[in-house]
Amino acid sequence: MSKNLTSRAEDYSKWYNELVVKADLAENSAVRGCMVIKPYGYAIWEKMQAELDRMFKETGHQNAYFPLFVPKSLFEAEEKNAEGFAKECAVVTHYRLQNDPDNEGKLRVDPEAKLEEELVVRPTSEAIIWSTYKGWIQSYRDLPILVNQWANVVRWEMRTRLFLRTAEFLWQEGHTAHATKDEAWEETRLINGIYAKFAENFMAIPVIQGLKTESERFAGAEETMCIEALMQDGKALQAGTSHFLGQNFAKAFDVKFTNKEGKQDYVWATSWGVSTRLMGALIMTHSDDKGLVLPPNLAPYQVVIVPIYKNEEQFDAISEVADEIISDLKERNISVKFDKRDTLRPGAKFAQHELQGVPLRIAIGPKDLEDETVEVARRDTFTKETVILDRINVVVEDLLEEIQESLFTKALNYRDTHITEVDDFEEFKKVLKNKSGFISAHWDGTAETEQKIKELTKATIRCIPIDNKKESGECVLTGNPSSQRVLFAKAY
Ligand code: AMP
Repeated sequence: MSKNLTSRAEDYSKWYNELVVKADLAENSAVRGCMVIKPYGYAIWEKMQAELDRMFKETGHQNAYFPLFVPKSLFEAEEKNAEGFAKECAVVTHYRLQNDPDNEGKLRVDPEAKLEEELVVRPTSEAIIWSTYKGWIQSYRDLPILVNQWANVVRWEMRTRLFLRTAEFLWQEGHTAHATKDEAWEETRLINGIYAKFAENFMAIPVIQGLKTESERFAGAEETMCIEALMQDGKALQAGTSHFLGQNFAKAFDVKFTNKEGKQDYVWATSWGVSTRLMGALIMTHSDDKGLVLPPNLAPYQVVIVPIYKNEEQFDAISEVADEIISDLKERNISVKFDKRDTLRPGAKFAQHELQGVPLRIAIGPKDLEDETVEVARRDTFTKETVILDRINVVVEDLLEEIQESLFTKALNYRDTHITEVDDFEEFKKVLKNKSGFISAHWDGTAETEQKIKELTKATIRCIPIDNKKESGECVLTGNPSSQRVLFAKAY
């Protein structure tokens, strides 16, 4: 396979798929729609997990673990949730295989080993968790419960793409229980804010925080808050959701508590999640035709040192310098890899690290040894500079900070120049065709209009931004009165 990627301009979707595989992030597996996340890709996911986990714990949440299987009777208890997910459920019906008498050497399901009750492989865990919370909650003193779990879920998606939409994916799901409606709403907003902060400060991805319309809402939720990001091809990506579940699950599972006044009431709930889809968001926000571009916060290693030498003596002298740099950088909590493989030439190593998005590359050759310098190259801008050895720590530290910031600024500029205010439906279609991105337009608030626009243009309402200003106008399709603009886009 050639090292060169298809360019984004030529075929964006092909570029994405090639990049994921060639940068060694993930690959398709023997199971349709399910992926293998490779060590380099998993290392990035682990960085995301670590930071999110820290943020959740800082705000009082604890981790727990609930089973993969949900008995069907529990799954169907909250009707809307069950109905919403029913079409995507994998279901376990048997628990044993046996030798197939009609087909030697093959196995078949043992018809005697049929489960009394079928088990749904969790597409989301509200049902199993709320049936458990029933035993945990009696009084207001047992509240709030602020629990998160890191897990896998299965949604039998028909059209899958590595990271963006897979049949099995990794995620975290928070499930909280509260004594009051206000508290549950506060939690929903808190998490939406954490997701936004994480995306922007850590992943360098600008996002719009908003509310989903009814048709895009999580099945079983009263309201869904989201963060929406814009990819380089002008399509939007829902990057994280937090749901205000009202008392729906408490009612479905009969979870009541005695409040401070001594009266019985149903418990208020939220749930929230981000998934390995964030890997897709990361790739499609920053990467280029040469491969992955990683914000330093997410790079499995932030700096790679490549020695350039002709003989062992030179290699030894370079290694000595490299070791010193490594120990200095480690002291500053900067992760470094010394690429001393003797099976690849420096040019090939450069290309590989470029493809894998290592933020900074330090090259050290014989001339550098003489001059007491090294060459430092940035992955994001391809700029190179010669740095005297004494200053390498400071320079690397500053550059990493600068790269993190400049990736965010670049993505923000792109996003902001791809939000177009539109007041006319012909114009709406034209913008979608030309530069795409978000369209800010008036909508009459009905599901029919939303559906009609989707049929005509493939664009959906991504969200009603939370910082929206009220502005009266006319719906872009029907001309009916509207009180605010909403954001439309074609989406992943
Ligand atoms: P939900 O429970 O539907 O609100 O989804 C929670 C999070 O998982 C959202 O951030 C979604 O973007 C993400 N997500 C939903 N379906 C998939 C999928 N098939 N593959 C990867 N991520 C997904």
